[in-house]
Amino acid sequence: MNALLSLLLTWIALQASLRRDVELLIDGGVVVTVDPHGTVHDPGFVAFRGDRIVAVGPAREAGAFRPRARIDAKGHLVMPGLINTHGHAAMTLFRGVADDLELMDWLKNYIWPAEARNVNADFVRWGTRLAAAEMIRSGTSLFVDMYYFEEEVARAAKEAGMRAVAGETVLDFPAPDFKTAQEALQYTDGFIRRWKKDPLVIPAVAPHAPYTCSKETLLASKQLADRHSVPLLIHLAESRDEIEQVRARHGTTSTAYLQEIGFLEDRVLAAHVIFVTREEIDLLARAGVGVSHNPESNMKLGSGVSPVPELLAAGIAVGLGTDGAASNNNLDLFEAMDFASKLHKIHRLSPTVLQAREVVRMATVGGAAALNLEDQLGSLEVGKKADLVLLDLNRARAQPLYSVYSQLVYALKGSDVRSVWIDGKPVLRDGRLLNLDEPAILEKAREFQRRIRASLMPAQTRP
Ligand SMILES: [Zn+2]
Repeated sequence: MNALLSLLLTWIALQASLRRDVELLIDGGVVVTVDPHGTVHDPGFVAFRGDRIVAVGPAREAGAFRPRARIDAKGHLVMPGLINTHGHAAMTLFRGVADDLELMDWLKNYIWPAEARNVNADFVRWGTRLAAAEMIRSGTSLFVDMYYFEEEVARAAKEAGMRAVAGETVLDFPAPDFKTAQEALQYTDGFIRRWKKDPLVIPAVAPHAPYTCSKETLLASKQLADRHSVPLLIHLAESRDEIEQVRARHGTTSTAYLQEIGFLEDRVLAAHVIFVTREEIDLLARAGVGVSHNPESNMKLGSGVSPVPELLAAGIAVGLGTDGAASNNNLDLFEAMDFASKLHKIHRLSPTVLQAREVVRMATVGGAAALNLEDQLGSLEVGKKADLVLLDLNRARAQPLYSVYSQLVYALKGSDVRSVWIDGKPVLRDGRLLNLDEPAILEKAREFQRRIRASLMPAQTRP
């Protein structure tokens, strides 16, 4: 009996000591957890083992842990990795190719022809690498992507050490890689099977929009997403033009149409959601649809203002997105947070809407919830994935610091990010990208720029 008891006590002691052995301890910074209580530890610590956070708390409790490596985060702010819920990563190579145009003019006369002449696997590989460099540098740990040659997007994300939710765009007209929706869906099926178990890449199904996909294509996309239990990504109610086209063809609005055909469900992540009625907001809430709000793209394309306060009030999970670099023109979510807050304030003529703390939640745990990943990502809590960002507070624009949320949304920039860990591994250390060859990526971007410019009609090139 005594032998058994001592064995038990030894086992308990061993477990306790194991619990205190951590791989990395980030200690002494201002830790903004974005947990449900909005806990901030100043100073605080975060400890992780493998890909998981095993402890978060005030700095005085950090002594209980035996880390294999320690980061002194004094003078830094520590927060969860940001989640970019909508974009087209490879379109970084079209940054600035055509601006100041109507959405349909921009798409039909500039972007789609430029894509038809330039987009191939190599373009997507280098464009996504360029996007990954920009996103990691500005604190993004996960990006949602809808583009072509999505295999290359998944590979580039993995190589960069980033998380991606990647969906091959499904369209009813010829795209750079597939001529029909059926081919794109077949490819998506294989793509999902190849990536389903990956720790960083989540494959998805991405029918482009209600005005570019037939009912059959939309429903086949939904069935594929249901069969594999993966996210279903779509552009929804982005422009007045779209609403008119859908009304002419189906006699109703985009959202009501998707509801009617049985498309809406909780795995849907809808980008933009600008032209929706009160009833449609309730429809989206009841279906559990997540929304990606893209303030800068909506402003730049003059699309309109999404009713984000009403979406949030209805209980819809809303995340932030940058959209592609051709309609933004950068992938910095710090800028997106700033724009989101101010866009709704000016739109409502009220400084109290979309407060800084709410916007930080949107860029982190809100995005995770829109993807049904809030049990894994979006905040610094024990058991969640170790995705976190360190920002330098020893800078003129970072001081004095009264409110961390105010500072994050209204003062700090993506360029204040110094280090990033994703899935427990460092991807940016003291401003240095660890997995990407940045000089080679920038050189390639210049090479693509020359090629793309030469491919455009004279009328499509602007000084
Ligand atoms: Zn988009």
